[in-house]
Amino acid sequence: MTGQVEGKVALVTGGASGIGAAVAELLAQEGAKVVATDIDELRGPELVAGLNKSGHQAIFLHQDVTSEERWAEVTSDIEKRFGRLDILVSNAGIGISVPSITDMSLHDWRRQTAINLDGVFLSVKYCLPLMRKTGGGSVIMMSSLAGLRGAAGLAGYCATKGGVRLFAKAVAMECASAGDGIRVNSVHPGIIDTPIWGKIPTEAAGRGQNAPIDPEERAKLATPLGRVGYATEIASGVLYLASDASRYVTGTELVIDGGMNAGSAVRR
Ligand code: NAD
Repeated sequence: MTGQVEGKVALVTGGASGIGAAVAELLAQEGAKVVATDIDELRGPELVAGLNKSGHQAIFLHQDVTSEERWAEVTSDIEKRFGRLDILVSNAGIGISVPSITDMSLHDWRRQTAINLDGVFLSVKYCLPLMRKTGGGSVIMMSSLAGLRGAAGLAGYCATKGGVRLFAKAVAMECASAGDGIRVNSVHPGIIDTPIWGKIPTEAAGRGQNAPIDPEERAKLATPLGRVGYATEIASGVLYLASDASRYVTGTELVIDGGMNAGSAVRR
């Protein structure tokens, strides 16, 4: 590892699983002090214990990103412990799939919007003031390929992720106008093998499940590069946006999707 974010303090929401866990791990390995937050109180503490055991610096805080009260507590805790925040990865999210948008209950629409959009709004509202105190930082919002194009069965999810995409650009412009040293970008994963896929069919029924993509399902998920992606491959993109290597990059969208957004390839 090359210390690309050495000495920086990073907050990763949804840091107990999948992409968030891979991001927390890579940022810690690259020298950041990582605060991983999540509602998952089992895997979050396990992850940071593993990182600390390997000589990295990480803590876990329980946080539901939809709670404004908790955002105030988490950011104040970070300020007390570290005196700064340099990197925010607003990653926590869920996906609710329904056969048709007319099958979606208002309750599920609001729940998905609360986590995927309100959570990102609150992250910015509470983290930007802390970042400004020490001269800036990097905000990375986890959108999706579904924030760039439609997907049948995922209209509500697309609405939230499209919202995140433009929210990132608008906040980037606000920060640029203020000259506050904060860069804001969105990341757009394609199909990434994380527990979220095990949860999608059951979320609507109110049951969470943690299962990797079923091997038969995986075969159906053809992409131009011929496979699904891995959380570590998203983490690499996040590391770039978090580090000074991307110091001239703001308001942009980093698509990491095995080519899915570019078109369809014919594999021979
Ligand atoms: P995941 O289910 O493995 O991880 C999501 C994490 O968010 C979980 O640990 C979960 O406990 C946490 N979370 C859920 N609700 C929360 C809340 N209210 N407060 C705090 N934490 C909460 O899924 P993942 O695939 O790692 O997804 C991470 C992000 O990447 C999400 O925003 C998702 O929409 C996005 N994404 C994933 C894919 C993919 O194919 N896996 C593709 C595009 C975008």
